Amino acid sequence: MTEPQLTQAKDAATDGFATDALMTGTVVRAGGGVYEVDVQEATIGEPLLCQVRGKLKQGRRASTQPVVVGDKVRARPLTSFGADARGRRLREGYIEEVLPRASWLGRARYQGARAQKLTQIAVANLDQVIIVMAVREPNLNTHRLDRFLVLAESSSLNPVICFNKCDLITKREIKKEIEPLASLYSAMGYVPLLTSAETGTGIKDLRTHLQNHISAVLGSSGVGKSSLLNAVQLGLHLWVGDVMEMGKGRHITTEVSLHPLDGGGYIADVPGIKTVSLLEQQDVNLPLCFPEFALYLNGCRFNNCSHEHEPGCAVRAAVEEGAIAPSRYDSYLKILQDEKAAIKNQYS
Ligand code: GDP
Ligand code: ZN
Repeated sequence: MTEPQLTQAKDAATDGFATDALMTGTVVRAGGGVYEVDVQEATIGEPLLCQVRGKLKQGRRASTQPVVVGDKVRARPLTSFGADARGRRLREGYIEEVLPRASWLGRARYQGARAQKLTQIAVANLDQVIIVMAVREPNLNTHRLDRFLVLAESSSLNPVICFNKCDLITKREIKKEIEPLASLYSAMGYVPLLTSAETGTGIKDLRTHLQNHISAVLGSSGVGKSSLLNAVQLGLHLWVGDVMEMGKGRHITTEVSLHPLDGGGYIADVPGIKTVSLLEQQDVNLPLCFPEFALYLNGCRFNNCSHEHEPGCAVRAAVEEGAIAPSRYDSYLKILQDEKAAIKNQYS
C-alpha cells in the first residue's frame, strides 16, 4: 500500500538528466524496486525516489538483497520528479553505491528439501532499542523487561530502558521502587531513563539518546510507546507497533520503514521485531545475554554448565552471595525453560 511508485515509465522524452552531485543518504522505505532515500546533508529537503542503476558498487560481497531499509547509500539525483504512495512529489534519483553495513537484523527462513537456512534482512544498521516499561498501568514486570533485554543482546543492539508513566507514582515510590531498579540495570551497562509522556519528564534525555542512532521501540501494548515518540517529536507515531500480537484477523502492513528525527537519526518501524530475532536464531548463547553473568561463567566446574542445577556452578553461587539479582537469575531460568520447550517442539 505504501509502496513508492515512479510516476511513469522512463523513456527518452521523460527521463531526467543525471546531475553531477552524488549524495549520501539513508534508505528509509523500499518496495517494488523503488527506494526512498533520505538525503539529510542536501538542500533538497525531501527524500529522493531512487532506483538502482546498472552495476552497484558494494563494500561487501554481493548479496541477494543489494539494498535494504537502513542502508547508507550514495545516490545521484535526476532532474525529473516522481510521486510516492502518499502523492508527494519527489525528485528521482539513482542509487550507485551501498556503503558497508555495520549490522543487520534478519529473519531466518528454511528453504528446500534440506531446509537450507537463509537469512532475510529486515533492516540494516539498526543499533539501538528503546525498551518502554510502564511503572503503572500496566504494572512494571521486570521479567518482561529481561526478555526484551535478551532480545536486544541476542541481536547486539544497545538498549535504553524507559521507565514510563512516572507521573502515576509518588516521589517516595520512585525512590523505593524505581531507583533501585535503575541502579541495578545501569550497573550492567544499560541506560535507564525515568520518563513521562504526560508531564515531559525525561523526554529531553530520551531525545538526546535517540540522536544519530537508528532505534527501534519495544514494549507491550499500552505502556506509552506512541505517546513517548509523539512527545519526542510531534507527529512521530509508531504506526504498526505491536498490532502483530493483538489480532490474527487484523490487517497490517509488513513493511519496514525509518522515520527521520529532527535532531538526526531515525526511529525504525520493524513489524514483528519480537520474532525477527531471538528464537529463530537457534545459536543464541543465553548466558551471554546476561552481561552480569560474564564475570562468573569461567568459574563453573563444568564448562557446559547450564547454571541451572549443576554442582560447582559459579553463577548460582553469585546469586546466593547477592552478586547477581535473584530476579535476573529467575528470568534466566524461565527463558532457558522456554527455549528448551521450543527446541523440543521443533523436533517432535
Ligand atoms: P503504546 O500502546 O505503547 O503505544 O501506548 P500509548 O502511547 O498508546 O499509551 C497508552 C495509554 O497510556 C494512553 O492512554 C496514554 O495517554 C497513556 N500514557 C502514555 N504515556 C503516559 C505517561 O507517561 N503517563 C500517563 N499518566 N499516561 C500515559
Ligand atoms: Zn554454572
